[in-house]
Amino acid sequence: MSKRRVSFLRARIRDVPNFPKEGILFKDITPLLADVEAFRVCIELMAEPLEPEAIDAVVGIESRGFMFGAALADKLGVGFIPVRKPGKLPAATYRVEYDLEYGSDAIEIHQDALSRDDRVVVVDDLIATGGTALATKELVQRCGAEVAAFVFLINLVDLDGIARLDPSRVITILDY
Ligand code: AMP
Repeated sequence: MSKRRVSFLRARIRDVPNFPKEGILFKDITPLLADVEAFRVCIELMAEPLEPEAIDAVVGIESRGFMFGAALADKLGVGFIPVRKPGKLPAATYRVEYDLEYGSDAIEIHQDALSRDDRVVVVDDLIATGGTALATKELVQRCGAEVAAFVFLINLVDLDGIARLDPSRVITILDY
């Protein structure tokens, strides 16, 4: 991962203080998405370490994980599976409750979204406490599949969310 490409991306993350709540420093990825070259570089950096792996699908977490996940799935030549907030997926789902850095929530996956023994990559824009990613791993496992790797554009290092995801492989691009 070249330093030049990483700083190019870092310059396109905007800090928004006190959003969505007092005391949260929100990492806004919309300037990166709006820059075609930055978005392309971001997907390249996510895909490069995964290219030697046998991957069956990319699982993206609502909603910012959809943007990165769909592009990454296309790049890797596999399908995209959405993990969504409750009540959004139309067919039969599995549901897991989890804690967020700001509040608590639940997520769902279609029961038939993955095949038994599929190896998937889970993608989100950011890992904070790791609660969302851990819940997603549980959803993938309920489908009988396994998480081969997690990919996050941003890692909030002090919260050490990655430690909760061990022993799966975790790829992050920007540490804060
Ligand atoms: P966590 O489950 O604590 O790892 O939180 C990760 C989820 O919350 C991701 O979907 C992020 O998009 C969102 N999130 C948490 N903290 C922040 C933050 N400081 N800035 C932007 N998004 C955040």
